[in-house]
Amino acid sequence: MLDSVRGRLTLWYSIVLGLVLVFLAVLTYLLYWHNTSQRTDSNIAEISDAFVTTFNAELADETGPDAVKNAAHESMLEHRFRDTFFVLLDPSGNVLQSSLDLPRTATSRDRPTPDFFSSESFRALVAAASNPSTLRTIRGHGSKDGFRAQARPLSAGGRTYTLVVLQSLHPQKEMMEDIRDTFLWAIPIALLLASIGGYFLARKSLAPVAAMASQARGMGAANLHSRLAIANERDELGQLALSFNQLLERLEASFEQQRRFMADASHELRTPVAILRGEAEVTLSQAERSTAEYRETLAILRDESQRLAHVIEDLFTLTRADAGQYPLTFRDAYLDELAGEALVRARSLALTKNITLTSAIEPDLPIRADEALLGRMLLNLLDNAIKYSPLGSTVNLACCRQGDHYLVSVSDNGPGIPADLQPRIFERFFRADKARSRSEGDTAGAGLGLSIARWIAEAHHGRLELTRSDPSGSTFTATLPVSPPI
Ligand code: ADP
Repeated sequence: MLDSVRGRLTLWYSIVLGLVLVFLAVLTYLLYWHNTSQRTDSNIAEISDAFVTTFNAELADETGPDAVKNAAHESMLEHRFRDTFFVLLDPSGNVLQSSLDLPRTATSRDRPTPDFFSSESFRALVAAASNPSTLRTIRGHGSKDGFRAQARPLSAGGRTYTLVVLQSLHPQKEMMEDIRDTFLWAIPIALLLASIGGYFLARKSLAPVAAMASQARGMGAANLHSRLAIANERDELGQLALSFNQLLERLEASFEQQRRFMADASHELRTPVAILRGEAEVTLSQAERSTAEYRETLAILRDESQRLAHVIEDLFTLTRADAGQYPLTFRDAYLDELAGEALVRARSLALTKNITLTSAIEPDLPIRADEALLGRMLLNLLDNAIKYSPLGSTVNLACCRQGDHYLVSVSDNGPGIPADLQPRIFERFFRADKARSRSEGDTAGAGLGLSIARWIAEAHHGRLELTRSDPSGSTFTATLPVSPPI
């Protein structure tokens, strides 16, 4: 039972509730005991005052040597209370009149025994009688619970008597026992009921968790589209299910992206391989070929394998980037120099299309960067600009500093990218015009160049955006921090 959360919850809940109940019971008992004791004392004081008033009134009517005894007798007859006794002692300490000598009231239970009046405690009480607030508890002598006793001086006929008022503590004790007994059975019953209720409550509250667990067990890569049922979105379990569903959504998106990536990658690899095989088969289908024919086939094979190698390298870069495993080597470099090198490397491609490469590069642009990767980003942008520009046009590379950032822009006079496709050009394998891209022969890309360029900008804590694209041409701008926080 303790293996389950609901069992543990119930146990803890019962323990805490039990402790609270016991604490409250003890507190209630003590407070009640204190109040009852105080009430008994004030009750005795009131009864004794009333007795003295009656006694004085009776004494005024009495004459003769037994006036005091008679007045006391009359007063005792008048003040007959259950469990309360009066004793009048003469000035030498002997019992002059006692209500114990009166006929028993039906309800009186504890009565002091005769030895009570000769006991040590009684003597001590009488000795302290000069102080009217003297109240003592005297145990034994006829009551197992004891008596609460008050002794006060009483003047009559020029002599000082002592009035003792006794009240049995038995009723008080009996009431306290009743309270204690009530607590003794009520607390376990309350605890039992609360534990049963708590257990069912915990079971009901945790039922959705069990349901979620069984639903989650049935989920796998094949049915990632299924979602947990949410009973109440606002409670904690609803929030948990919501977070779980959001996680599933991200996982599904990531699986889907991965799947698309694999499908696109294999498609991109299949095409050049098919071309390689087709060319070889066509060439080999005839026993004899001229040297020129062999050279032509080999040139095609070389170009296609170059293209294949390029795609494989790009794929490898992206998968390592995704896994965060691409080894980045940041060094102090100069952006103007990297830009100059990229221009030189792009020159041969530009020549094939008679494109003029121009530049506006500010001198002395120190940067902390992975030189190889930043060079690759520049070359990708220049390659694209040349690839998608008409023959004889101009491509410009500009680098300048703006505060603590560098702006690197590559502009061309190409046809631009249709507005509806612009948001997608950084997606992997995305090509705005697939047919045209492939017809570019060995310069045709697989649609990975911009994805890699953007990743490189982000790896340098910067960003890459298409900042202009219309029928007059396109501009890609990379914003790079001068000192990336590496
Ligand atoms: P690709 O290998 O096809 O060049 P990229 O990721 O580099 O792949 O580019 C994605 C697509 O964006 C390209 O297929 C092309 O349609 C479009 N594109 C990129 N650069 C330019 C540009 N300078 N002018 C026009 N279109 C461009």
